[in-house]
Amino acid sequence: MHRTDTPEAAAHRPAPGAWHARAPLRRPRAPLRSDLEVDVAIVGGGFSGLWTAYHLLQGDPSLRVVVLERDVIGFGASGRNGGWLMGAAPADLQVWERKFGLDAARRAQGVLVDAVSEIADVIARDELGLPPRLAGSITIARSAAEEQRLHARRAADEHYGWPADGHAWLEPDEVRERIGATGVRGALESRPCGTLDPVRLITKLAARVEALGGTVHERSPVVSVEPRLLRTDSATVRAPRIVMATEAFTVEQPGEGRRYLPLASTIVSTAPIPDGARDEIGWRGGEAVGDAHHLFFYAQITREGRLTLGGRGAPYRLGSAVEHAGIADRATTDRLEATIADVWPALAGVPIESRWSGSIAVPRDWCASCGVDADSGVAWIGGYGGHGVAATYVLARSLAPLLRGEPDPLGPLPWTLHRPRRWEPEPIRWMMSQAIVRTLGSADRLEAAGKPARRMKLVERFIAG
Ligand SMILES: Cc1cc2nc3c(=O)[nH]c(=O)nc-3n(C[C@H](O)[C@H](O)[C@H](O)COP(=O)(O)OP(=O)(O)OC[C@H]3O[C@@H](n4cnc5c(N)ncnc54)[C@H](O)[C@@H]3O)c2cc1C
Repeated sequence: MHRTDTPEAAAHRPAPGAWHARAPLRRPRAPLRSDLEVDVAIVGGGFSGLWTAYHLLQGDPSLRVVVLERDVIGFGASGRNGGWLMGAAPADLQVWERKFGLDAARRAQGVLVDAVSEIADVIARDELGLPPRLAGSITIARSAAEEQRLHARRAADEHYGWPADGHAWLEPDEVRERIGATGVRGALESRPCGTLDPVRLITKLAARVEALGGTVHERSPVVSVEPRLLRTDSATVRAPRIVMATEAFTVEQPGEGRRYLPLASTIVSTAPIPDGARDEIGWRGGEAVGDAHHLFFYAQITREGRLTLGGRGAPYRLGSAVEHAGIADRATTDRLEATIADVWPALAGVPIESRWSGSIAVPRDWCASCGVDADSGVAWIGGYGGHGVAATYVLARSLAPLLRGEPDPLGPLPWTLHRPRRWEPEPIRWMMSQAIVRTLGSADRLEAAGKPARRMKLVERFIAG
């Protein structure tokens, strides 16, 4: 909610991003007004919080579970993302291999790959809206360096157990035929991967949590968390288990400023593509399309025919400030719009209807995690670094048995009870982030000119491998 809003005004203005703006208007649920005692209180109504409630209640319908969302369901990354439902790990697999061994890293990768079809099944079974379009992802290469990187990525994926028949190399004419991208040297097709509308899914998921017996309150900011006790701005909740599912916003809590690096990801979305241009480019199966730049883009064409394309590169803000209002950085949207015109000249004249941003949460080792602190009863889940649409389901499924005091039926996985170390204090964190983003951008420019980007060596140890 904006500081100047009346509750009435806020209730009628959608949360940031076109997914919210295009969803049917609805009145937010009532805030929590009276004190409560429950078994599990969940802070944050994004995918992490709601899937945690879902798995808890699936496992034990007698549990009293409440979800407290500061704004509206899907206000954070969950309602602003690119809608890629993918098996890619929310982690640096080399870190998992180093810390837990190759078998553990492979098992985790397998669980994540399987989750894509499992989530599609859950969406169908529990009537959580339209099914994801499981058409795979196509990552294009337009320079020799990108092409090399994609071959290396394929080899690394397969080393970590990605199904060998899940990858295919597409030649330039096949890429042109499938998705109309121009100037490509080839592309890596990966399955499983799907695309969906995240706000449609999260809206249905919240309703499903309520149907299972959970309670969801919106406009209920949690202002303090202590062991077994939390306070919103108007009530107190007592619970032996409290789950912090606040992702990038976690850094706003006292003492948590160094837990994650909140980095902006920015999206532009066009008006519906006119029939002629659509006939020229194809791309009709719901494929997730991206490229292999260091500052890569990710895109889908929505069911309504809008190209929705996002990318990183907006500057990190000193002191880990998180963008609440979703204001997009102009230089980044200019770059994304230029990418559209460059890769798909047929789309150059299609108007951009919306531009927005959201924050992803990057842990110091780039590995998402979840767990419960046995002393305080406070649990954590998050740190997906931009790979959370499927991974939230998976980590929440691991967290639910821990909250009930039971072992995870899947056994320990690399994310369970893992605690990444914290980021450096300011201004070192700010200087590092500036250097990383600048280096990635300049490496892309060098490679586009056919030159090697040796400077990447300087930042490789700070980014996922
Ligand atoms: C622009 C963008 C594009 C992305 N694209 C993709 C993609 O295509 N595929 C993919 O896999 N991942 C993608 N991601 C990442 C993915 O969206 C996230 O990893 C995932 O949604 C995280 O869900 P979450 O529930 O943990 O966090 P969030 O959705 O951020 O939820 C946290 C919630 O906590 C609430 N909250 C915070 N503080 C409080 C408080 N004090 N009291 C009460 N509530 C509070 C917030 O309002 C928010 O709703 C993208 C992210 C962004 C930003």
